[in-house]
Amino acid sequence: MPTICQNERFCALRGIVVSLQNMPDNHTPAQRHNNMAAIHSASTTPERRLRHALWSQGFRYRVNDKRLPGKPDIVLPKYRTVIFVHGCFWHGHKDCKHYTVPKTNTEFWMAKVARNQERDQEVWRKLEAKGWSVIIVWECQLKKAYFDETVARVTSEIFRNGEIYRTVQEERKKAREEYLRERMERKEREQSLLKEVKSL
Ligand SMILES: [Zn+2]
Repeated sequence: MPTICQNERFCALRGIVVSLQNMPDNHTPAQRHNNMAAIHSASTTPERRLRHALWSQGFRYRVNDKRLPGKPDIVLPKYRTVIFVHGCFWHGHKDCKHYTVPKTNTEFWMAKVARNQERDQEVWRKLEAKGWSVIIVWECQLKKAYFDETVARVTSEIFRNGEIYRTVQEERKKAREEYLRERMERKEREQSLLKEVKSL
């Protein structure tokens, strides 16, 4: 039986496995596996395939987190990183063959895509202001021929972001400790000064 994502609330395969477990089963394991593989691939979106690839590499994440600006598709809190999987047309992937402006209603479509791009920029700014790193993955980069390459790129970006996040946290911690130490020393100096004054 194929492995399933435990955290994927919407994983189609998981639902199927659960319902199969509760059903009288006339299939051999091999037949069952083939059926499920077929159903699974039919319900697989590029984004979901990316999630599965990250999951199988040990990354843990939240999906479509409403608490963050832009409701990011994938949120990796440990690495302070969010990932958006963008459709090439709707978000205007520059120089991409999947982003061709329709010949009819051209202005309407161009305005719509421009609005989406503006919104994307705004979301990006908001997230970065909160200390999140943003990774954009275009749908065309998740096509079979580029999939592994894209996953490798995303993985290394996640690790790099994690490093930056840890460094920033350590620096903050150091600065906080420094501040507290200075405050304590100042207090001690003040108290000893006070003592001296009283003893005069
Ligand atoms: Zn594209």
